[in-house]
Amino acid sequence: MPCGRLRFGPAGKPIDLKGDLLKAPAFLRELGLDAMEYEAVRGVNISRERAQKLGQLAREHGVLLSLHAPYYINLSSDKRTTIQASIRRVYESLLASEWMGSYAVVVHPGYYLKYTREQALKMVIDGFKKAWEKAVSDGVRNTWIAPETTGKSKQVGSVDDIIVICSNLEKCRPTVDWAHLYARSEGRFPQSLDDLIKIVERFEKELGSEVVKPLHSHFSRIEYGKGGEREHHTMAEEEYGPDFRMVCRALRETGVDSTIISESPILERDALVMKRICEEECGA
Ligand SMILES: [Zn+2]
Repeated sequence: MPCGRLRFGPAGKPIDLKGDLLKAPAFLRELGLDAMEYEAVRGVNISRERAQKLGQLAREHGVLLSLHAPYYINLSSDKRTTIQASIRRVYESLLASEWMGSYAVVVHPGYYLKYTREQALKMVIDGFKKAWEKAVSDGVRNTWIAPETTGKSKQVGSVDDIIVICSNLEKCRPTVDWAHLYARSEGRFPQSLDDLIKIVERFEKELGSEVVKPLHSHFSRIEYGKGGEREHHTMAEEEYGPDFRMVCRALRETGVDSTIISESPILERDALVMKRICEEECGA
């Protein structure tokens, strides 16, 4: 079976790009890449005008945009002020995403900490709903909330968590960070091609076929310790998992479209390595 439409690109400004971020879409197309995640990880600071300009350039160069929301989000905090600030950051991310025509707002939703899993998930869903309602009332139409599978076992963000969250929201699609799943399980999952295929199939079956058109994903090799992720590594550092070739095979076997964002320390250089590996597996 042939592969679906696979897109590749960096998490943030390409490391070899000199000058302004607005040059990124042309730079990426030149390299043969066609996706980019805009990193708002330290706060949403982009103006409407600049976001629209970036979106226009991305469309002109065939680069699909997504947006990574700030790291300082915890919708299941025990502090009311933290929850309020987190809802605000999700809302701001949705708005900026809509301005730039990005299709997905990637979010690390929260932590279990003082709550049971069920309580934490309910708080996350409530928080997302509040941010979503406000964003819709301010004109958001096309962007999706895309909670990410997270890298630490104390963080909300297992495959099951993401399915529960997205089942309860209107426009919600998973962000599958393959490395995070591997790190949060301390290398136990996913291990086999079958594990990977099952994850893709569960998302499609339980959340609908729209969420795999395309399936938004992150990849890098990753170092983990007790409790989960330590550090992202390059594709050349073969002592760290998971196995990217197997990810390509799972995408081929399931036939889904996917956006694969490189979170390697060398961003777009490794996005190209990932693209080549999937091309080999897809027989392109
Ligand atoms: Zn992330």
